[in-house]
Amino acid sequence: MKNERDIKIRKRLEALRAEILKVIGWSETASSGGGAMDEIDQANELIEKEMGYLMSSNMSNNLKEVEEALERIKNKEYGKCQHCGTEISSKRLEVLPFAKFCVTCQENLESNNH
Ligand SMILES: [Zn+2]
Repeated sequence: MKNERDIKIRKRLEALRAEILKVIGWSETASSGGGAMDEIDQANELIEKEMGYLMSSNMSNNLKEVEEALERIKNKEYGKCQHCGTEISSKRLEVLPFAKFCVTCQENLESNNH
């Protein structure tokens, strides 16, 4: 069910955010979240994979992406393409939990930028 997926994704995003904050040195903000440590341990394997991806790009930008995704979960808008409104496939969200656009729009945007 949708709600269960959102809860799961939210935990992943929160763990991810804590990791990013740690890396960019805002650990005091990360620890104020509280209670998330167990989940971070549990999600460690995934996080490592995600961090590998994140490390290759801009950290504070990623933090923004993660926070925006958390915001979308709160507003029950999560999982929808911010461009065309289509549901983003769960497979894509599995790989990129803070994905903003569906594959089609992402590709369009990327090809427009080049
Ligand atoms: Zn789209």
